[in-house]
Amino acid sequence: MNPKETKIAFIGLGLMGVPMAHNLLKAGYLVKGFDLNPNVGEKFSDVSGFQLASSPTEAIDGSDVTILMLPDSSIIDAMLWGANGKPGIAGNLKAASYLVDMSSSSPISSRENNQKLTAMGIHFVDAPVSGGVKKAIDGSLAIIVGGQKSDFDICLPLLEKMGKSIVYVGDAGAAHAVKALNNYVSAAGLIAASEALNAAQKFGLDPHVVNKVFNASTGRNNSTENKVENFMLNETFNSGFSLALMRKDLQIALGFIESMSCYSSLAKQCVLTAQAADEQLGKGADHTAVYGFVKSKS
Ligand code: NAD
Repeated sequence: MNPKETKIAFIGLGLMGVPMAHNLLKAGYLVKGFDLNPNVGEKFSDVSGFQLASSPTEAIDGSDVTILMLPDSSIIDAMLWGANGKPGIAGNLKAASYLVDMSSSSPISSRENNQKLTAMGIHFVDAPVSGGVKKAIDGSLAIIVGGQKSDFDICLPLLEKMGKSIVYVGDAGAAHAVKALNNYVSAAGLIAASEALNAAQKFGLDPHVVNKVFNASTGRNNSTENKVENFMLNETFNSGFSLALMRKDLQIALGFIESMSCYSSLAKQCVLTAQAADEQLGKGADHTAVYGFVKSKS
């Protein structure tokens, strides 16, 4: 995908979408963007090649690749197929173009979308990301990719502008499954660390020292290494990944595990904890604030 000859539509310009689109623009791609936030164009005043569309249909007009970076599958399904009497954009996608869903979506919905889009002659690729806003800014996201291997090969040069570790995992929906499972394992680690550190503190221990021990021992995980000191014990709770998105990811993972008829006791408990924390802390809470929620309960 030569930047000079590839027109990109980028739908969903939030915390992650803005820096990802920036990296495509810096690489020379032409990007037409759309977001429900009408002021998002201001975030692109410092780069050339960006055009703000006033609707998703305008954004995808003539696009070779449509990238979605939206909150969840219900929004994506409504965007593609329509909802509440509003038509979807799927029928307007350019023939033989690529639809790359980089959101953390449901693997079940992605498989269905792949079937319907393939029947229409559109190439579907699921390419969710891991790494957060910081890595989106410096173009070093981990990107997991599913879909036809030949479509992956074609999209790879474009994905390389946004990520460093790019791993092909299998057919359409496979990447969204791996992403949801990864985020379940990660959230379970966060919840476990929150509960353990809170209990340690109640026992009179210094949680900084306890976390140091975890990091030198087998209790070490991504939260103990990167989140406990930076966002949790100092109670800044500002990692840039919302609790609402963590709750959504856990619900996707639980739904996926259950749809495979597999044992899901811990996943169920993680969903209940994320749900209770999200309801208590409200809109805008960061996922690291689960530690504050745990503290408030004892
Ligand atoms: P965000 O809430 O900051 O951005 C989502 C954007 O989508 C918003 O700007 C919103 O206005 C827009 N939007 C919602 N509905 C829309 C619609 N119908 N049409 C057009 N725009 C619409 O979320 P984010 O943090 O950028 O996350 C996006 C996706 O990436 C999610 O699926 C999330 O799970 C995933 N993700 C986020 C992170 C992170 O650290 N924030 C990391 C990895 C993956």
